[in-house]
Amino acid sequence: MRSSTMINKSITSLMLMFFISIQTFAQSTDLPPYKDKSKDVETRVSDLLSKMTLEEKIEQVSGKGFSTIGNVRLSIPKIHTYDQQAEDKAHRNTINFSSDINWAATFDEPLIEEVGVSTGQEVRIMGANWLLNPCINILRAPVHGRSFEALGEDPYLVSRIVVAYIKGAQSQKVIACPKHFVANNQEWNRFSVDVIVDKRTLHEIYFPAYKAAVQEADAWSMMTAYNKVNGDWTAESHYLLTEILRDDWGFTGFTVSDWGGTHSTVGTAMAGLDLEMPEGRFMGKDLLIAVKNGEVDEAVIDKKVKNIFRVMFKAGLFDETPEAYGGIANTKERSDLARKVAQESMVLLKNTNLRGQEDMFLPLNKEKIKTIAVIGPNGSVAQVDGGGSGAYHGYYQISPLEGIINNVGNNVEVKFDRGIPEKTLELPIADASYYLLPNSDTEHGVKAEYFNNKELKGKPALIQTEKAIDFDWGYGEIVAGGGPGSPDPKIINIDGWSARWTGTFVSPGNGIYEIGLQADNGVRLYLDDKLIVDAWTDAKPAMFKTATFKFEDGRKYDLKVEFYENWGSCRAKLGIAPYKPNEINKSAIELAANSDIVVMCMGLNGIIEGEGIDREELSLPNDQIKLIAAITEVNKNTVVVLNNGTPITMSEWISDVPAILDAFYPGQEGGNALADILFGDVNPSGKLPMTFPKKWEDTPVSNSYPGEKEFAYYDEGIFVGYRHFDKENIEPLFPFGYGLSYTTFEFSDLKLSKDSMTESDSLFVKVTITNTGKIDGDEIVQLYISDKESSVEREVKSLKGFTRVSLKAGESKNVTMKIDKSALSFYDVDSKSWVVEPGEFEVLVGNSSRNILLKKIFEFK
Ligand code: BGC
Repeated sequence: MRSSTMINKSITSLMLMFFISIQTFAQSTDLPPYKDKSKDVETRVSDLLSKMTLEEKIEQVSGKGFSTIGNVRLSIPKIHTYDQQAEDKAHRNTINFSSDINWAATFDEPLIEEVGVSTGQEVRIMGANWLLNPCINILRAPVHGRSFEALGEDPYLVSRIVVAYIKGAQSQKVIACPKHFVANNQEWNRFSVDVIVDKRTLHEIYFPAYKAAVQEADAWSMMTAYNKVNGDWTAESHYLLTEILRDDWGFTGFTVSDWGGTHSTVGTAMAGLDLEMPEGRFMGKDLLIAVKNGEVDEAVIDKKVKNIFRVMFKAGLFDETPEAYGGIANTKERSDLARKVAQESMVLLKNTNLRGQEDMFLPLNKEKIKTIAVIGPNGSVAQVDGGGSGAYHGYYQISPLEGIINNVGNNVEVKFDRGIPEKTLELPIADASYYLLPNSDTEHGVKAEYFNNKELKGKPALIQTEKAIDFDWGYGEIVAGGGPGSPDPKIINIDGWSARWTGTFVSPGNGIYEIGLQADNGVRLYLDDKLIVDAWTDAKPAMFKTATFKFEDGRKYDLKVEFYENWGSCRAKLGIAPYKPNEINKSAIELAANSDIVVMCMGLNGIIEGEGIDREELSLPNDQIKLIAAITEVNKNTVVVLNNGTPITMSEWISDVPAILDAFYPGQEGGNALADILFGDVNPSGKLPMTFPKKWEDTPVSNSYPGEKEFAYYDEGIFVGYRHFDKENIEPLFPFGYGLSYTTFEFSDLKLSKDSMTESDSLFVKVTITNTGKIDGDEIVQLYISDKESSVEREVKSLKGFTRVSLKAGESKNVTMKIDKSALSFYDVDSKSWVVEPGEFEVLVGNSSRNILLKKIFEFK
């Protein structure tokens, strides 16, 4: 009985297979060209387009949330972003290979290509096919909150790393999306700022990484920025999207707006934007109307749809389901790769010997250490990224404390103390119960007077009663979709107005409270006519501006709050909470005093810097500075470890510590990688992808950031980052390209393949590197070019080549780097071309932009 059932089953399945194969054969001959894998991409694109109605086409040029819309009738799949998939899978459980700024600090293209491949695989495993990465905006303002998810200040370095990454990711048929094109270099007013920048600077500083992404890595998509450039929103800039991207560079992929970064229908469509995200606010039904009434030609829509389909066919979206990829994302190999990236990216900034000791402070010798104190706010919490959409928390996160414990095992006692209390980052908003109207003991609320000028001048244009001071008026008309802009846009202007709130403030209790306002723009708060908070300024809108005040229980205080709105986003919120003194934990000082070694884990986090938040200042937060002073007073055997995506000034404390290690945001394996370096299992080799200034005044943007009203003037031109420090002859705290090692290297025998070159030639630069120390290590050989005479002002030098070399102790290797015309040229605005003028150039080779060890002149003929 049993066996006859089996026989019957086999016969049935054989017949089924026969039937299916006939079907498949029949299908394959009947397949429309767009479904036929054997046809070329352009044939498939045109065929699919020819089968679509206008309505269906329009549906393809805007998305919904984090994917495109697809089409059931024609079996057009959706493009799914990784962001969405990662979020769906509970709090972005994805491998965190370190933040992008760490990738730049590795100066290791093959390694970052591996990261690209691995990320691409992970994206596919998750059932997605579109990676909204990498962010490649140049680090212009050293307080820019999104720098952690970008690749630093130098266009050449950014280009090399981005090309490697995109090649890796797209090799897995995942659509990469370099962003944000272009000049999104500050978060301040990011939704509205108009960047005023000259064309030469665009071509030499802000464009190169995008151009390389297109021409060398064939990036399949590109995201526009929120800001304007020279008067046009980037998403509706014909110059950027059509003239530069498509006509000059030959981009064949699709362009996508940043989420909500569109502002018009016809302008955006005609400029060349292909896909509006996260919905068809302008390129949905309004675009259909515009086509129907002849404002936009249907051919314009066809082009957009073709650009999107072309990529979808290339990425195999019509030929295999995303699920077909399979596999496991969270593997040991990927964790190991994350650890390697973290190891290669950490930069040893300082390492000296302590008085009376011969050896450098680092690496630490675990055989000689009995106790280690890990102290600081970033010690027990792994800081793996800055804030916002670029934050991926990893499957797990190894903190410095865990990493150190993992490394030393039971032989060394490791103890932790945070050192300072956690911060009140946002004061709770004072609700209506805190306020009484003027001259009332029972009615809750405040009297509000609004003025149509910034100076509270004249008679108020609007007087009303409000429950509490808790307003976010958004961006008004300036950015569509924002709030109303002012309390009543029909009466009060959207920009350039002011307000005064008066009433009685009811004491919250007995004792010291922190009271303040989160205000954009200026604000001041009076209690009993005494000025308590004075922030009558345009600056730094994201944070609460606070003061401490001693309240008495049961008392009432006369309240006056004044506010002005200059331009852009607009809010006023009054918050209050019991004051927590920023005292240093005595326990931390005791622990430090009784430990052999102190590892201080300091620096920034995703609340201090991230999407939408530029940093307030370049120094460490004040309480951390105090903590370093208190700890080093009792124990000089202290190494400071930093987390940051932007430079940190150190004048207050640098001379108090023998060693400083910059970990940036080293990803899920960061703690282990840190311990590898601290204990000498790995020799540090990362180099700074940015200049660390001694003070804000030394930076290229000290007079121009954040800008005036809606404008950010890029007055420094091409002199961004080290180019500025070189030009002005300012000594940085740590230069671009800088990073120490536990060994020493010697550079020798610089040879050029010839002493002159021409337009069509290239030149080979050969140099010998020797590891002259006692341990193995990697060095980054850096090649800079200097134009000795030029009709235009040029940078003193600019990076044009680099190579990571691994050398055993005592070993020598030759390194060869190639340069061609592109390494020597500048962008000539008149002829709209890259020009090299005949004359002398100098090759500079070293291991930082300020440590040039070998030089040679050659001639360009
Ligand atoms: C960010 C983009 C990001 C997008 C989707 C935007 O706010 O600026 O970088 O890709 O959100 O997450």
